[in-house]
Amino acid sequence: PLNCGIVGLPNVGKSTIFNALTSAKAAAANYPFCTIEPNTGIVTVPDPRLDKITEFVKPNRTIPTTMEFIDIAGLVEGASKNEGLGNKFLGHIRATDAVVHVVRCFSDPEVVHVAGGVNPLHDIDIINTELLLADLDTVEKRFTKAERAAKNTSDSKLKAEAACLSKLLEALQAGKPARTVELTEEEKPIARDLFLITAKPMLYVANVDDSGLAGGNEWVDAVEKRAAEENSQVVRICGALESEIAQLEPAERTEFLKEMGLTEPGLDRLIHSAYRLLDLITYFTAGVQEVRAWTIRRGTKAPGAAGVIHSDFEKGFIKADCYHCDDLFTYGSEQAVKEKGLLRSEGKEYIVKDGDILFFKFNV
Ligand code: GDP
Repeated sequence: PLNCGIVGLPNVGKSTIFNALTSAKAAAANYPFCTIEPNTGIVTVPDPRLDKITEFVKPNRTIPTTMEFIDIAGLVEGASKNEGLGNKFLGHIRATDAVVHVVRCFSDPEVVHVAGGVNPLHDIDIINTELLLADLDTVEKRFTKAERAAKNTSDSKLKAEAACLSKLLEALQAGKPARTVELTEEEKPIARDLFLITAKPMLYVANVDDSGLAGGNEWVDAVEKRAAEENSQVVRICGALESEIAQLEPAERTEFLKEMGLTEPGLDRLIHSAYRLLDLITYFTAGVQEVRAWTIRRGTKAPGAAGVIHSDFEKGFIKADCYHCDDLFTYGSEQAVKEKGLLRSEGKEYIVKDGDILFFKFNV
């Protein structure tokens, strides 16, 4: 599954948020989530549409879709220069699909701040600089080689590689993340092969206290301003509060949120933001045995979507019966949707939409 690495300076609340994410009591007993390793957790993606489909179809079981979060602790100033530990942390980040960057926007004299005082922009700069330096190192090494190789050749591939690396180098040297570099279709796969950290989509989590949650504070304002300049998103979360909410039974949780004047846990917002950040969408399968949500990348065609269930479904794909969950909500049953002529048969080229309900036909 696709995953998000959680990074940030020590003591900003990463573990608190990670633990709340992965320990939250599920809304239904068979929601499959767990902590795989100490630092990796599977999180279910809350989706009211799945609950609604369940009400209509009344299956034996309902299974939500999931995503993975990894708590990447230990990133500190100088990590990119530190051969041992620093490289290990950066290696973990390199293996993730997206980065969630937690910044401290709460003051608490009990919680030591590693950089002297609460200053989220300063913290952001420290972390982003380490990530940038790590990428710069990667690109510089490759560029030296590629430039040499491109010199006395007419091979357009080698020339494209050198050109791509040169663009990336220029940006990184100017302190700009790789994700800001505009690449041609030819250059994109070259850049992808570098696994650059600053090319990954990133969002900020502003870890605030209760009062900052609703009203914000000067630190959150600063983070939001910075994020807007970078075209990134910010999710406001109170880590301490989320870890309390996570301990509650579903019924108590609803009550507690209402008392706090909140409509959903901050963690749900974080999960949804991460989902969007990864450009993911959900389709459903809805039979009487099982109603289930599945995750695909936006733009995936029907056979690829089938492949998420089983590789045989993709290999033997014939067609997919398809309708949208909104049609089910409007007309009340698959039969009624069919009678309205809204159940279609889609082929190999069909691009699956968010909220589609699919039934695959395939050869075995
Ligand atoms: P990490 O090093 O980034 O993983 O940080 P931790 O999650 O271990 O948190 C560091 C300390 O900050 C712990 O003592 C937490 O209880 C505390 N902490 C985390 N989130 C909050 C918060 O929202 N408000 C307050 N006041 N303390 C928090």
